Amino acid sequence: MWNKTVAELSRALQNKAISSVELTTLFLARIKQHDHKINSFITVTDELALNQALDADKKIATGQAHPLTGIPIAHKDIFCTKGVKTTCGSKMLDNFTSPYDATVVEHFKAAGMVMVGKTNMDEFAMGSSNENSFYGPVKNPWDLERVPGGSSGGSAAAVAASFAPASTGTDTGGSIRQPAALSGISGIKPTYGRVSRYGMIAFASSLDQGGLFAKTAEDLGLLLNVMAGHDARDSTSIDEPVPNYTATLNQPIKGLRIGLPKEFFNPNLDSKMAAVIETAVKEYEKQGATLHEISLPNSALAIPAYYVIAPAECSSNLARFDGVRFGHRCKDPVDLEDLYKRSRSEGFGKEVIRRIMIGTFALSSGYYNAHYLKAAQIRHLIRDDFHRAFNEVDVIMGPTTPGPAFKLGERTNDPISMYLSDIYTIAVNLAELPALSIPAGFIDNLPVGLQLIGNRFDEVRLLNMAHRYQQCTDWHLNIPGDF
Ligand code: GLN
Repeated sequence: MWNKTVAELSRALQNKAISSVELTTLFLARIKQHDHKINSFITVTDELALNQALDADKKIATGQAHPLTGIPIAHKDIFCTKGVKTTCGSKMLDNFTSPYDATVVEHFKAAGMVMVGKTNMDEFAMGSSNENSFYGPVKNPWDLERVPGGSSGGSAAAVAASFAPASTGTDTGGSIRQPAALSGISGIKPTYGRVSRYGMIAFASSLDQGGLFAKTAEDLGLLLNVMAGHDARDSTSIDEPVPNYTATLNQPIKGLRIGLPKEFFNPNLDSKMAAVIETAVKEYEKQGATLHEISLPNSALAIPAYYVIAPAECSSNLARFDGVRFGHRCKDPVDLEDLYKRSRSEGFGKEVIRRIMIGTFALSSGYYNAHYLKAAQIRHLIRDDFHRAFNEVDVIMGPTTPGPAFKLGERTNDPISMYLSDIYTIAVNLAELPALSIPAGFIDNLPVGLQLIGNRFDEVRLLNMAHRYQQCTDWHLNIPGDF
């Protein structure tokens, strides 16, 4: 049962082939037995999970169950969970117990899902390798010497190692798609505003978006049906009806136009990676889709623009962690300035401090026009590129990452090379578009992903296209040997 998909587990629970208590016990036992190898959880909520499972079984017995009732899920430790420690991967929040649930946590609770724990992550979601966590790095279940990707590395590794059939994540510049690709699972980042950010600890508010990890696109659809929706408590949440994300999964894709950006398939793209993507795209051609070269001329500006905008927003969002309103407080401060200074330098890790400094600089008077304003203008150019592209094609495809998972420690001393791991994902956040990553092959025994980028609110089509691919390939069915 532990390697089954959410859809399969839902049927097993409805048919009474297994109870939620049995299923939850099974996953908790797997976490206990194996997680010491990969460190994917910060908190395991055994007792709470078993109580929720008992309630779920009662609902199932009386026929009041939702299709997701009784299914275990793990939440990235960036989502506030009532009565449960919520750290955001930081020493700053090491002793924080949230007094309320994030909207998405509420949604999954209301559907009767069982929370097995809170997953490890890069501190405040800043990172691409999950090496910036106060709770130590997460390791890739496919190779324990490698990173699982970040910042939602714990959530991705937990699903890859079958500690839970699904998990939540957040994606500000790639943090769902990139770890999904490096950990060999499926992950979706919805359109900005599709999923509520209420109770999701803010990194860069104009880019942050909650999303999901699971083994299949079908599972992502089942979960998104519950996760998506307008929330009056998040002023950037969009009031658009939520479609049924699973109703059209099987729809034929004949005639759909796939755009291949020439900027992605340039001579710098690793030849093994190019071969994987070429094979994947051919599969779509076989099913009747057509391929078109397109151009996203401002792609190269995405990383520099992001690394002004995201730090600028974070420098403002993280101001609240001052040891007074929120967060770690230093011992015996001599005065207010000492309290702020020491609380913040003790509570935040190196990368977070680097970002706050860059952001504060970019927003300071005299530099604002040259840096922040410029980056905001570039963001418009990038948005326009996609807008033009979606007049010509229905979906854009390319690699999710430049290559497979890299070794732990390999990029920690070189922030720029770390930042470049998100070269294919970041523009999508700047343009507020939905995108997903699905397993598309292996390079040197390590999984790699195919990225599908859609037009605004076109998650239905992305899931349909990903599902069709998973119906005729079996990359998503591979499971790391040690787990
Ligand atoms: N790797 C990017 C960063 O460090 C993106 C992180 C994210 O999506 N949360 O900012």
